[in-house]
Amino acid sequence: MAREQVTILGSTGSIGVSTLDVLARQPDRFDVYALTANTGADDLASQVMAVNPRFAVLRDADAATRLQNKLDEAGHTGTEVLAGEDNLCRVASDEVVDVVMAAIVGAAGLEPTLAAVNAGKKVLLANKEALVMAGRLFMEAVERSSAVLLPIDSEHNAIFQCLADGSLRDLPAQGVSKILLTGSGGPFREVPAEQLAEVTPDQACAHPNWSMGRKISVDSATMMNKGLELIEACWLFDTDADNITVVVHPQSIIHSMVEYIDGSVLAQLGNPDMRTPIAHALAWPERMPSGVGSLDIISQGRLDFQAPDEVKFPCLRLAREAAIRGGTAAASLNAANEVAVAAFLAGELPFPGIAQVIESVMQIVDVVEPDSLADVKFADRQAREAAETVLAARVEVR
Ligand code: NAD
Ligand code: MG
Repeated sequence: MAREQVTILGSTGSIGVSTLDVLARQPDRFDVYALTANTGADDLASQVMAVNPRFAVLRDADAATRLQNKLDEAGHTGTEVLAGEDNLCRVASDEVVDVVMAAIVGAAGLEPTLAAVNAGKKVLLANKEALVMAGRLFMEAVERSSAVLLPIDSEHNAIFQCLADGSLRDLPAQGVSKILLTGSGGPFREVPAEQLAEVTPDQACAHPNWSMGRKISVDSATMMNKGLELIEACWLFDTDADNITVVVHPQSIIHSMVEYIDGSVLAQLGNPDMRTPIAHALAWPERMPSGVGSLDIISQGRLDFQAPDEVKFPCLRLAREAAIRGGTAAASLNAANEVAVAAFLAGELPFPGIAQVIESVMQIVDVVEPDSLADVKFADRQAREAAETVLAARVEVR
């Protein structure tokens, strides 16, 4: 079999590092074509020297200069250093690339991920925000280009694994009656609602089961992550929010379930480690080792399930409302969330303020049916500006 050329968008992040770990276990099957990051020249330099990709791209031009200097000092010559968003899109779509891991966090991932889709690549989608923002346009691009889109988000990967015929689409024809989307409930599942105003960014980022980047960790704590995943699932599996039940499962051993019309419920289980969905998607339709240990279900002992508390965690409700509103509502929700989470991480907004800011923004913004990426980006910008205005007004009141 010809070696597959892999680009990792966001290689210095949590998913990027896990992807490199999985790839290193299959040196005969994959070559790393390009690694990319935002500003982290030091982290990217270490990765470049370890795997010797053809290209290394930093979005930030100064960081790219720092990376070049580091590689020169170390005498590393095999890798061309590039800068800027255009070059992120380029290494995602170059002719020789077979597989693109889309693991940039947030809206910044939209264009490079779409570049990979438009070039018809095998696209491993971790960057859920891209699909949440551009939903229909994104899935139309997949259809047009014949890209192979495979979900990396553990829940969506689990659902895909529970679908009998290996297709993400046509769930009714596959006999599926509903999707059970599981989530741990995050680090504050058992914290009383009245104490949430006091929680710190570090507490929000200390997830009980998963080790992840800071933005998605806060999303898990607010349950916006489950809300974004609900919207992601609607687009990936071409279904309505009504057909998706969110289930809190604190142990994160079941990664999601699919119910069939005959009453069968299929679940995918495993230790909570993103290397499993990454290896599944890289090898698909085959299987390969991921480095993840065997699930010791006997010492696990029990699996619990609960309904989510949408009063304590309003972000889940807000996301469901955006899914039902359709159009650019989800792009606005995502943008408002990114601004609010950044403010919380910077110590400028208390934890319950995240949902309050998003709710205010969703009351202000216009929602239209987007005809183009420009409409999506306009909605994103409008919601960011609205969120900044809401944040500034909160500071004045204080
Ligand atoms: P992270 O913060 O650890 O890493 C983000 C990566 O994106 C880094 O390499 C960073 O350099 C790059 N990046 C950030 N901003 C950028 C910009 N403006 N331009 C270019 N590159 C930029 O995040 P993560 O936890 O690895 O998550 C990545 C994506 O995967 C997110 O969309 C997240 O929702 C999704 N995801 C993550 C996990 C997980 O376990 N970490 C699970 C499921 C889905
Ligand atoms: Mg997930």
